[in-house]
Amino acid sequence: MSELDKALLPALQQRRDEKLYRQRAVVASPQQVNLLRDGQDLISFCSNDYLGLANHPDVIKAMQTAAGDFGVGSGASHLVSGHSLHHHQLEEELADFTGRERALLFSTGYMANVGVINALLGRKDAVFEDRLNHASLLDGGLISGAEFVRYRHNNMEDLAQRLVARGKNNRKLIVVDGVFSMDGDYAALPELSALAREHDAWLMVDDAHGLGCVGDSGRGSVEQFGLSHEDVPILMGTLGKAFGTFGAFVAGSETLIESLIQFARPYIYTTALPPAVAAATRASLKIIKQEPQHRHHLHRLIHLFKSTSASKGIELMPSDTAIQPVVVGESEKALALASGLQKRGYWVTAIRPPTVPKGSARLRVTLSAQHSEAQVVGLVEALAEALRHA
Ligand SMILES: *Cc1c(COP(=O)(O)O)cnc(C)c1O
Repeated sequence: MSELDKALLPALQQRRDEKLYRQRAVVASPQQVNLLRDGQDLISFCSNDYLGLANHPDVIKAMQTAAGDFGVGSGASHLVSGHSLHHHQLEEELADFTGRERALLFSTGYMANVGVINALLGRKDAVFEDRLNHASLLDGGLISGAEFVRYRHNNMEDLAQRLVARGKNNRKLIVVDGVFSMDGDYAALPELSALAREHDAWLMVDDAHGLGCVGDSGRGSVEQFGLSHEDVPILMGTLGKAFGTFGAFVAGSETLIESLIQFARPYIYTTALPPAVAAATRASLKIIKQEPQHRHHLHRLIHLFKSTSASKGIELMPSDTAIQPVVVGESEKALALASGLQKRGYWVTAIRPPTVPKGSARLRVTLSAQHSEAQVVGLVEALAEALRHA
């Protein structure tokens, strides 16, 4: 065995011992509700394809057509020669959709978050993060070198105290998930924007799980709370979830976007998304704007899942979104439940630390507009049985 492998093995063994070892399952079908996983047909309740657009015929067609017209690779970064007509038009359409002056595409949401925070903050500044923020927001804050301040989940008193204590810092940025990715609850955006104003801080919202799904017209958690561009000057969204494609964007003022183009290193030093992915996303955006029925069906399913679970005595989190976690505590128990569901034909992943805090391992159930009511009721029945056996 090499010295390298010898050095690495103990940490792997420790992960196994703690029941925290992660493995990939191989999917041999399109991303949809009925999946073929490692040779088994399963009904999936764990993807982030909330509107069922990942395998939508119009989206596929748009990608195929654009690949025919524009080829596959973008060939370079946006600032060299990789910024295609499809990228440009998608940016204009996303700016229009979010009601902001401009939008800027990033290759992934992780890179967008690291890019924005690092373009805006340096050592003399401070970043304020909810404890349950997505890892990409936390990593972005850490990499920036700004003073890194975490506050208790959705606790405005805690945040206010920390803002006061950091009055001396130059720039202050509050960053938060619009819908928390592992709990499904909303950030207290109206209170956050008021606090930001009061303390001369800026507010950035990562709406990876809100855009397309929540708000009367699917414009996300900012719309859900009736907030303006002034309330939330920095809005980030991902395209790999409700949009069903890949990539991410940041929307805001002309000056914000120009600053990101100049200073966001994960924007500058990476290859642009394939133009066909941008074209596919334009097709998804059109569906999101023109076909509210998918979002309405999703909300009916959320309601059905919650009411059926309540009638079976299954305890849920206070979430009104497509993310409906069943918290069980120990990682081992979450794994046992996931495998109990798999035996009954359902795929729900066990989410364990460090993705969630210690002692809060869970099944992260996610609903999609593609599910039928019967499938949702079937899942709840299987869940109740699996919980009885666990
Ligand atoms: C998925 C996710 C990201 C990362 O987006 P990718 O495009 O998958 O890199 C960022 N923030 C949140 C809240 C997410 O859920």
